[in-house]
Amino acid sequence: MICPKCEYEYIDGISICADCKSKLIPVEEFEGHLIHPSDWVIIFTCDEVYEAEMLKTNLESADIETLILSQKDRSYPLVGNLSVIKILVKKTDKDDAASILKDIKEREVSGDSDD
Ligand SMILES: [Zn+2]
Repeated sequence: MICPKCEYEYIDGISICADCKSKLIPVEEFEGHLIHPSDWVIIFTCDEVYEAEMLKTNLESADIETLILSQKDRSYPLVGNLSVIKILVKKTDKDDAASILKDIKEREVSGDSDD
């Protein structure tokens, strides 16, 4: 859940923003509610939630604000390969985020496990 005013993300179960008392909206609906949609860019797309979450964790650990938007159409739950998960960052963070993603991808290709 996300506050459409502050753009803060909250865990499921919370329905009111602690900061501004706004009603939170589902993350999937958030894209249309971005205060400054042009500030955000899609930096990566994938079709696996765990991959998106992993990348988000990595980006956020580098202090990059990250949004995950899923376009999965809930009326067709079985059509998994039509789902697209988009990872968005702010334009100002785009270059940093891109280099982090590149590092992650290179690590995936080269390293085979033990670190
Ligand atoms: Zn708020």
